[in-house]
Amino acid sequence: MDKKKKVKIIPGCISCGTCEAICPQVFEVRDISYVKPESRYEDHADDVDEAVDMCPVSVIQVTEEEENESNTGS
Ligand code: SF4
Repeated sequence: MDKKKKVKIIPGCISCGTCEAICPQVFEVRDISYVKPESRYEDHADDVDEAVDMCPVSVIQVTEEEENESNTGS
């Protein structure tokens, strides 16, 4: 079973824009930061990891999900 890494923003973002500045392919800051749904962690792993480190309130998380868990809702 494959595990897929998934980027998410937990509550508490202060909209500083740092993550988007580091990796605009994955993060988009509107009222708060959002992870672009079409983006993949694997394509931008280094930049996402940097954004995780640089976020001043540490609300960016990378989690591992089972690949076969296909119920994503919408
Ligand atoms: S770096 Fe953190 S606080 Fe700043 S916009 Fe991104 S998620 Fe929000």
